Amino acid sequence: MGTPTAIIIGASITGLTGALALKAKGYDVTIVERDATPDAAITAAASDSWTRRGAMHTLQPHVLTARLRNALWAWYPDLVRDMLEAGVWELRFADSLHPGVKADYRPEPDDEKITVLVSRRTTLELVMRRHVERHGIANILAGVQVTSLVVEGSGAPVIVRGVRVKDAAGERELKADIVIDASGRTTKFADELRKAGAAIGEESHASNHCYYTRHYRLNEGESFPVLAGLPAAAFADLTVAALPADNGVIVATIAVFKDDPLLYEKVNRTDVFEAIVKSVPRVWEWLNPAKSKPVSPVMGWANMDFLWRTAVKDDTPQLHNFFFAGDTMLRSNPKYGRGCTCAAFGTHLLAEVLAETADPAERVRRYEAALRSAFRKEWEQLLGVDRSDYARFQVAAGLRTGSAAERLKGRFQDHLQTQAMVVDPGIYRALIKGFYGLASATDWMKSPATWLRILRAAFPNKAKRAIVAPFWVRPSRDDIKRFIETPAAPA
Ligand SMILES: Cc1cc2nc3c(=O)[nH]c(=O)nc-3n(C[C@H](O)[C@H](O)[C@H](O)COP(=O)(O)OP(=O)(O)OC[C@H]3O[C@@H](n4cnc5c(N)ncnc54)[C@H](O)[C@@H]3O)c2cc1C
Repeated sequence: MGTPTAIIIGASITGLTGALALKAKGYDVTIVERDATPDAAITAAASDSWTRRGAMHTLQPHVLTARLRNALWAWYPDLVRDMLEAGVWELRFADSLHPGVKADYRPEPDDEKITVLVSRRTTLELVMRRHVERHGIANILAGVQVTSLVVEGSGAPVIVRGVRVKDAAGERELKADIVIDASGRTTKFADELRKAGAAIGEESHASNHCYYTRHYRLNEGESFPVLAGLPAAAFADLTVAALPADNGVIVATIAVFKDDPLLYEKVNRTDVFEAIVKSVPRVWEWLNPAKSKPVSPVMGWANMDFLWRTAVKDDTPQLHNFFFAGDTMLRSNPKYGRGCTCAAFGTHLLAEVLAETADPAERVRRYEAALRSAFRKEWEQLLGVDRSDYARFQVAAGLRTGSAAERLKGRFQDHLQTQAMVVDPGIYRALIKGFYGLASATDWMKSPATWLRILRAAFPNKAKRAIVAPFWVRPSRDDIKRFIETPAAPA
């Protein structure tokens, strides 16, 4: 038997982590990517000058969960070292505590693992792409589009033998033992396979969220302000955040809901965006002109949803030699930052399964079972959180009157996010572990000690009241209405 071959459609996070995983199992990997190769002159510091028409969300805020960061250190330490050298940095739990509560911090042995990778997504991807190229992990055909699949037979199982591609030189077929669809959320291959007779199942839920993002760069000689958690102010109807990224860049985002008659499609106006961030002291500390300057326009992103796809119907695999991976297989609202984690773990689970069995039906079954076991519970929990956040938004935005129980729950969430997590490192640790993928999102609820601390945090002393006071400050909805109705003159 010769070297097994794989074609991966798409050279983004899923395609690149897939190549690393498959190469380690002895595969000869070709990645087909329709965007051009990043110019050799593009440095990490200028990574956003790499135009990614096929993945415009790379300009939106990205954090790599602690779960993924720890796995990358275990799997590919050289890759992580390349990232750190390029300006990506590690944000450790202990370093993210407010200086005023550090005296209350009692280190625990696993705290070192509560560390996320912080960077622009373009920098992460540029480093990963160059690592894959430099080490000969895959042959990347850039500027080449996959137009359709090469399939055999009609009806399930649809057997995939390769892809048809198109580039400046014309059209041709590429054959391989397996094909992986890493072409992202807009994949067209699920529909193509359905037309060929495969019963591809799908669960999907719109999340109603929308991001408006602008990049800033620290002024010469300035450094990031002291952290106290990530600089974000989260309220029921909007979240305003300024994420420190690589090479002195700050990625500022205002998240709103598409059903919000006041905010949706208004925050993309530069003057409105600036007026809002200026009214949130936690964020303005990072974005005021003495600290940093905007280096991009405001960029909107409204395509956020949950999806779970399956190629197994009634225990019968519908496809042979073809696998959905990353965003084509499963995704959750990007707000929870799970995309790259599911992409990387998913491709590694696939590589394990491919090495375990050569039976094409069994491969599909085992891959999907492995994904379910790794991610299904979390996916359902996050969907529950998303729905509850949406219900809370509706009440806050006056779209409906909330019940007494809903209003109480909303006040509890405000207390938890804006006060309890800030004043008590123990509460922060319990919650952040869920957020960074090291524990289930609801694990903290099982601990009576955590509940007691949350109760205690409702009665902070004078010093702690002073710490949290700026965390509560935001523009009211009337203020924002004024910003919208009275356009500010361009600066
Ligand atoms: C606003 C926003 C914020 C996010 N924040 C986070 C975060 O904080 N943390 C996190 O982990 N995740 C986050 N995500 C999710 C993360 O971006 C995605 O999960 C991740 O990009 C999925 O990678 P992918 O490789 O599957 O697909 P994509 O990144 O979409 O890449 C698909 C690739 O396939 C190529 N392609 C498409 N069609 C073809 C074709 N026919 N032929 C050849 N090439 C093709 C495209 O050019 C592209 O390069 C966020 C997403 C969004 C939208």
